[in-house]
Amino acid sequence: MANVHNFEYWQTKAAALKPDGRAWVNGEACDAVSGETFAKHSPIDNRLLTPVASCDQADADAAVAVARSVFERGDWSALAPAKRKVIMQRYADLIEANKEELALLETLDMGKPIADALTVDINGTVRCIRWCAEAIDKLYDELAPTPDNEIGMITREPSGVVAAIVPWNFPMIMASWKIGPALATGNSVILKPSEKSPLTAIRLAQLATEAGIPNGVLNVLPGYGHTVGKALALHMDVDTLVFTGSTKIAKQLMIYAGESNMKRVWTEAGGKSPNIVFADAPDLDAAAEAAASAICYNMGEVCTAGSRLLVEESIAETFMAKVREHVGKWRPGNPLDPNTNVGAIVDEQQMNQVLSYIEKGKADGGRVTSGGKRASAVENGFFIEPTVFEGVTNDMTIAQEEIFGPVLATITFKDEAEALKIANDTIYGLASAIWTGNLGKAHRMAKGIRAGSVWVNQYDGGDMTAPFGGYKQSGNGRDKSMHAFDKYTELKATWIKLD
Ligand code: NAD
Repeated sequence: MANVHNFEYWQTKAAALKPDGRAWVNGEACDAVSGETFAKHSPIDNRLLTPVASCDQADADAAVAVARSVFERGDWSALAPAKRKVIMQRYADLIEANKEELALLETLDMGKPIADALTVDINGTVRCIRWCAEAIDKLYDELAPTPDNEIGMITREPSGVVAAIVPWNFPMIMASWKIGPALATGNSVILKPSEKSPLTAIRLAQLATEAGIPNGVLNVLPGYGHTVGKALALHMDVDTLVFTGSTKIAKQLMIYAGESNMKRVWTEAGGKSPNIVFADAPDLDAAAEAAASAICYNMGEVCTAGSRLLVEESIAETFMAKVREHVGKWRPGNPLDPNTNVGAIVDEQQMNQVLSYIEKGKADGGRVTSGGKRASAVENGFFIEPTVFEGVTNDMTIAQEEIFGPVLATITFKDEAEALKIANDTIYGLASAIWTGNLGKAHRMAKGIRAGSVWVNQYDGGDMTAPFGGYKQSGNGRDKSMHAFDKYTELKATWIKLD
């Protein structure tokens, strides 16, 4: 049967797909100025997908010049908000209309299950672009309280040229969290996708042009971080740099900004989120199921993965039996099979890094109670069994460093105070969850945890209406919600004397 629930359907579609690896500048596909390309293989079976333009400094200079000139001309930046809104709504519609192709590109490029790409990734992307579009003509400026003979206007203006550097784990969604608010507020954008997952970003730019976003407003430069990424971050004519990726590179980008033009830098970085289960949780089965999904979903390649499971000592034995049972339902398989819930790890390098963390966890005294090895779901592919560590202490490497793979570190605690201490004993502060039926305890813990998101009796709640981002070394600024617009606008105070 030819439909999206059928493995054969996706295999046939994948065989016929011809991905485009060229850059997109000024409304046109183009090769890198140097003519250089790199080969993009699929992590599913290591097949060659396409050569991809390997952009560098020359491409960054050309794209920034185009973005600057269209910004100054006002084709988009000065367009009436209601008109920008209609074009961006059309853009969201076009993404939705091309969802099967985009989902397939995402799956082939970075290995996530097609069922997730088609639902979570496509829906998340469309919702973000549509939400930002709808907000465009609902953003009001402010008037200051003044004496009668003066007017004080506080207005937002687009920042100008925005460079957006994004990672490979949710390539489309992460791109949309940047380009949605950046375009909505009238900026010109240069998007640099990860070299590990460039294909959907390129397609998203083509669709933007088709939707009527003027040429030069959304450009995509594929390539490596140390070449084109660095060139954008050091560029003297980029006004704002927005980033999602590792803490290490986020710090580097702040240095680049200081070494160049003090461009605004907004970073969404790594996490090591505590998922805290108290003995008085209202539904321990639901908590166990969520604990498994919080580390297995997207192969654990999630910035908010519940990678540290903190369990109250008195229930540890029974609760962990439930967690192991649920983790057992997450099995590596061919990501093109709509029944698969664990896909491929993004590439061999990442797979080996995750496996080396598993070895380190064992060497430090953690006990592997589920998984722990490479899996062989598809020949030549990069797969790992979801892995549970028990008997972990928070000072171990696997409890402190972001693994970015399906590896759970379980730590027990005696009481509320100890749970909070362990939860906050990390350089990160992205997300957290608390499972308890005690309202007072939930409030105290939620207030005490230093993280941008706190979920109570659930994992990973929220939608476009809630800001998302980190405390501490998980970054600064917020994606999503009206708060995201702050990153892409400058505030201007205009004070007028009337007589
Ligand atoms: P990464 O930091 O290695 O790369 C991210 C992007 O930065 C890529 O496009 C890469 O090419 C680019 N880059 C690398 N070196 C650069 C340089 N010197 N100059 C400019 N650009 C450079 O991260 P990754 O491995 O792609 O993604 C995984 C990381 O992303 C994890 O740490 C994860 O937690 C984080 N992440 C965070 C969020 C969030 O919202 N907080 C969401 C998703 C992923």
